[in-house]
Amino acid sequence: MIHLPPSVRVILQQLEQNGFAAYAVGGCIRNSLLGLPVHDWDLTTSATPEEMTACFAGERLLPTGIRHGTMTLLRDGIPYEITTFRRESGYIDHRRPDRVDFVRDLREDLLRRDFTANAMACDSTGRLSDPFGGQNDLRLHILRCVGDAETRLKEDALRILRALRFAACYDLTPEPQTEKALFALCDTLAAVSRERVLQELRRMLCGKSAGEITSRFFPVLRAAVPGLMHEPPHLPSDFPNDESLRFAWLFSGHTASEAESFLHALRAENRLRRQVTATVSLLPQVPDASLPVLRRQLAEYGETALRGALRLSALCGQDSADAQTALDHLLENETCFSVRDLALSGADLLALGFRGTAIGETQRQLLEAVFSGRCVNTRESLLEEIPHLPPSFKTLT
Ligand code: ATP
Ligand code: MG
Repeated sequence: MIHLPPSVRVILQQLEQNGFAAYAVGGCIRNSLLGLPVHDWDLTTSATPEEMTACFAGERLLPTGIRHGTMTLLRDGIPYEITTFRRESGYIDHRRPDRVDFVRDLREDLLRRDFTANAMACDSTGRLSDPFGGQNDLRLHILRCVGDAETRLKEDALRILRALRFAACYDLTPEPQTEKALFALCDTLAAVSRERVLQELRRMLCGKSAGEITSRFFPVLRAAVPGLMHEPPHLPSDFPNDESLRFAWLFSGHTASEAESFLHALRAENRLRRQVTATVSLLPQVPDASLPVLRRQLAEYGETALRGALRLSALCGQDSADAQTALDHLLENETCFSVRDLALSGADLLALGFRGTAIGETQRQLLEAVFSGRCVNTRESLLEEIPHLPPSFKTLT
């Protein structure tokens, strides 16, 4: 029995009362059976979009994917996607069906779905429909394609990455036929848009079995990220579940500029590119970093990237224990990590006669003086340091 939220039950009952079959389906059923939170309840019905329109007359029903049978019902501000049972065929481009037909039978609809764990549905009473043994596969931690694995992955190459993502997130092992097809068909990943590859990778890398799946399916990942050559080190289970650190881990055998070009090719946003590249570029430097160097790196890259780099460099076999201890000590005992923390503010410098860009430049020089240990972060010590700064920074303009 699946426990449906009352709002979902009411929608299913409304469709049933109008003579249609209706179910909650896919990820919501999988997550319910795994005891995990459900983010959205996708519904499937024998009603066509026109029939849904009649059934929900007077309500906000948006034609979000009407050609493929998907309507979105907005109730109490919550969107519910309702899709007509459908059969898909064609898939000439390894990505999308050339033909979608509405059907009246739930089994046909479940048949088009990718994995047995995603091909289960539940009616308004909570009764499960599971024609392909998804519940049993979940119990055994198995990921299995619906039908012939090679045929199904060939139809839509995105399923290859979805497989790795589901396996990593839900701790599932692809059964032998599915595993074989994942390797055999990885070249078809070229048909998947870079954005979708990135979207799946981000979720896969944050899954609890990301380490095992990456090492087992590294050739598939190489096909997903052209140029990726070096397998990352073993990923301990307590490695931070931070997206940019996980990417840095995946790219840890590569240079920062290679990491940057992988993420550029995957159309990653600037923030992710910056964070990952920062961590990867720190990797070779951190193990022997002196205190002044650690202070500069902390100011430039931030604590997350620096700690991540230290952790990663240890995974890569470098001895970073001293730098780790130094960083802990520094964070515990020091108070000046950026110009904002200086005991002499911009306003103070203005009062001393500094103008324009000389203010910011002087602050940066003072911060560097603190970092390198030439002075300490007190007003007196900083004031004493000012006459020793390079002449250009003392210019009163
Ligand atoms: P999540 O929402 O956590 O990503 P999900 O299983 O709900 O997981 P969706 O992408 O929302 O995944 O898709 C909903 C359902 O549609 C899936 O459970 C699956 O049954 C089906 N589905 C989605 N994408 C595909 C695909 N590429 N091939 C076959 N079936 C798919
Ligand atoms: Mg979903």
